[in-house]
Amino acid sequence: MENRIVDARMEAFINSMDSPNPEELNILEAYAGEHEIPIIRPGTQSLLKTLLAIGKPQRILEIGTAIGFSALLMSHYAPPDCRITTIEKYEKRIPVALENFRKAGKSEQITLLAGDAGELLPTLQETYDFIFMDGAKGQYIHFLPEVLRLLSQGGLLVSDNVLQEGEILESRFAVTRRNRTIHARMREYLYELKHHPDLVTSILPVGDGVTVSVKTTK
Ligand code: SAM
Repeated sequence: MENRIVDARMEAFINSMDSPNPEELNILEAYAGEHEIPIIRPGTQSLLKTLLAIGKPQRILEIGTAIGFSALLMSHYAPPDCRITTIEKYEKRIPVALENFRKAGKSEQITLLAGDAGELLPTLQETYDFIFMDGAKGQYIHFLPEVLRLLSQGGLLVSDNVLQEGEILESRFAVTRRNRTIHARMREYLYELKHHPDLVTSILPVGDGVTVSVKTTK
């Protein structure tokens, strides 16, 4: 779908400055394109690399594995001893992601939890210093309390697809009935991130819209 957030020429210019990813990631990205599997866009990839370089996380939690592209990207750009836990509920994608982790030699570093994040998040006990929210957009607001429980002090929460191809700024009446619930929930999510007493958040027009939130140290 056309990106209505950033001017297309500007986006192409910015992306043209990127250094190439490792070949195994290029192969996965092409596979995702061929099979219409949604994965993070180049702008989001670049932002994640920068945030990982700043934050140097030891423990990453991802919600929404798909075929493992972003988990593998993060494994390349996070410290080598960083452990990644990623959650995916779509049964067809789970074996593909596991095979991609195996082929990349990352099965030890990346743990895939198969199931619904709504059920799995409450079972997790350890904290994470970097959480990447990239599951169903309508669920972000519901996952937030558990995500904040699991995010360490000073940790980063990065959420993808928050500007919904630009539709977020439309009035609810201009949004198709089908998208109204997601539209309302995403606005609520953005409001929470910006007004939560424990968070400092920036909403960035990168990719399909990304928020970067820091859990402030009390
Ligand atoms: N992060 C991936 C990447 O960039 O390579 C892309 C993730 S894709 C945008 C979103 C994924 O989240 C889908 O594969 C979908 O099945 C999964 N998902 C959606 N809702 C979920 C939930 N409640 N629990 C677990 N996975 C979920």
